[in-house]
Amino acid sequence: MTTASRFNIGLLEAAQKVPGKPRHKTREVKVGNVVIGGNNPIVVQSMTTTDTFDVEGTIKQIHALEEAGCELVRVTVPKPEDAGALTQIKNRIGIPLICDIHFDYKMALAALDHPVDKIRINPGNIGGHDRFRQVVRKAKERGLPMRIGVNAGSLERDLCEKYEFPCPPAIVESALRYIEMAEAEGYHDIVVSLKSSDVLVAVEAYRLYAQLCDYPTHIGITEAGKPPYAVTKSAAGLSPILLDGIGDTIRISLLGDPVPEIAAAFDILQATQRRVRRPELIACPTCGRLAIDLEKIIAELETRLKGKQLPVKISVLGCVVNGPGEAREADIGIAAGNGQGMIFRNGEMVRRVPEAEIVDGLMEELARWEVENAGKLAVASGRESVGAGVEGIGRRKLPVIAG
Ligand code: SF4
Repeated sequence: MTTASRFNIGLLEAAQKVPGKPRHKTREVKVGNVVIGGNNPIVVQSMTTTDTFDVEGTIKQIHALEEAGCELVRVTVPKPEDAGALTQIKNRIGIPLICDIHFDYKMALAALDHPVDKIRINPGNIGGHDRFRQVVRKAKERGLPMRIGVNAGSLERDLCEKYEFPCPPAIVESALRYIEMAEAEGYHDIVVSLKSSDVLVAVEAYRLYAQLCDYPTHIGITEAGKPPYAVTKSAAGLSPILLDGIGDTIRISLLGDPVPEIAAAFDILQATQRRVRRPELIACPTCGRLAIDLEKIIAELETRLKGKQLPVKISVLGCVVNGPGEAREADIGIAAGNGQGMIFRNGEMVRRVPEAEIVDGLMEELARWEVENAGKLAVASGRESVGAGVEGIGRRKLPVIAG
């Protein structure tokens, strides 16, 4: 028999049971062989830290980024010799190349003479509307997309005066102003970013923008500083944006070597379930109730799962307190007790194994799970099939993988 509650239980009964917001509906913009926006996977990008004219050094860094999984790379082009290096760089890398321009519109025009795949400009410092239009016309002529990269640190004076400081509405109005200028030129190959080093400002700017416009967004928390704080700060800022369904390409800005930016970006996408590419391991922090050597088991599991691009939830908990509950909710789970492990698959307990056989047992159940889901996994392995519109895999419908 239920008793009346002083709380509004009706609110809970009417609430959405499976959490998650749909993705912000955006247009598709093609950058080389990568498509940004629409239902395509959120693309991970980074930027080199070398002098671009140092062709060998730049290519070496781009290769390291590619190896880490980077999907788009940006290089700065402040001088004519940097523009001059673009063709050689492009010819020796495997991912689309973006030229990044500040201040000098002539460098934008020069860069566009090379086989780049996209241009990023900061319209607030490019030298006026007429110069912006000239760059748009050339990008249009070349059939190349452009990122309109608005930054709170270089917002136009009139908008700072109108809104008093570089606040979210000021940043968004700046972006919309340049979008309309580009559209007036008949140009629509646009990606937009609304960067701020202030997490609250960035989150609100992207939320406001998503209510008004459908060009895809590049998201990031600019000048996040030095890791590990910079990774935490980026996660703090990008998670609400991603959970709201916003973001089509992402960069984590870290001081120093850009290679760790890639793993950080994929981790944030994985944790927010916007792009799941590897098994999600659920492990407890352990405590005095621990019934198995959990750290050893997790280390071994991580080694055996390495390279497996499976959107599967695996729960490994150290005792019977939450173990069975978590194991039932995961695709595959283990609840440990008395030197044994109860193994669950798809919410059902399938067998008990001694502690020494827990990892083998989990891997065997994973193989069975793969067979059960083979059809969906085959569909998911094609990049074009990945996205919010595609049914997820597993008990909790994790979004499908992208290679
Ligand atoms: S699952 Fe058990 S061992 Fe792990 S933290 Fe919770 S109570 Fe402790």
